[in-house]
Amino acid sequence: TSFAHFTFDEQLMHQIRKSEYTQPTPIQCQGVPIALSGRDMIGIAKTGSGKTAAFIWPMLVHIMDQKELEAGEGPIAIIVCPTRELCQQIHAECKRFGKAYSLRSVAVYGGGSMWEQAKALQEGAEIVVCTPGRLIDHVKKKATSLQRVSYMVFDEADRMFDMGFALLFSATFRKKIERLARDILVDPIRVVQ
Ligand code: AMP
Repeated sequence: TSFAHFTFDEQLMHQIRKSEYTQPTPIQCQGVPIALSGRDMIGIAKTGSGKTAAFIWPMLVHIMDQKELEAGEGPIAIIVCPTRELCQQIHAECKRFGKAYSLRSVAVYGGGSMWEQAKALQEGAEIVVCTPGRLIDHVKKKATSLQRVSYMVFDEADRMFDMGFALLFSATFRKKIERLARDILVDPIRVVQ
């Protein structure tokens, strides 16, 4: 598979070319067409596999479609991840590729300034990259609204569940989360790299 198969427009292809990627990685070859089709997906791939771009590129296409359909406030895409470092890394990739369409990304994580994050959220962003607890704090304080969200990613979901498992100390928690994932996802396609 080459990048041409994804039929991305020239603006996005320009950003990809700037990254000097010569061809899509296996998780991208498998995952991008599924995500572009609008199906739910569970992707299993290692760090270094190119999995971040595999969910960011279809996300950007989705946001551009959605923006035309629906004006409004609050992010269109949310990426939830377990740590501040990962949050910052993903946010950097969102900014890099989001440049294609002048899309705005905000990173919201525990340990960062609530006030600065709230200000960034209120200035408006189509993409929010967050750790789960901090996102909930901002929603409770009405710094942002999730009403426009229609693309969601749980990155390193297994790690988030492990952390929750350690924190809550409940043997039933993991099962509950797995059930939750099954409830949320509609007939997901599993992609294992
Ligand atoms: P990830 O698995 O998302 O952590 O990505 C690992 C690294 O692979 C990152 O530094 C990306 O910039 C890089 N990368 C992503 N897609 C490609 C690609 N198609 N070709 C070469 N490198 C890539």
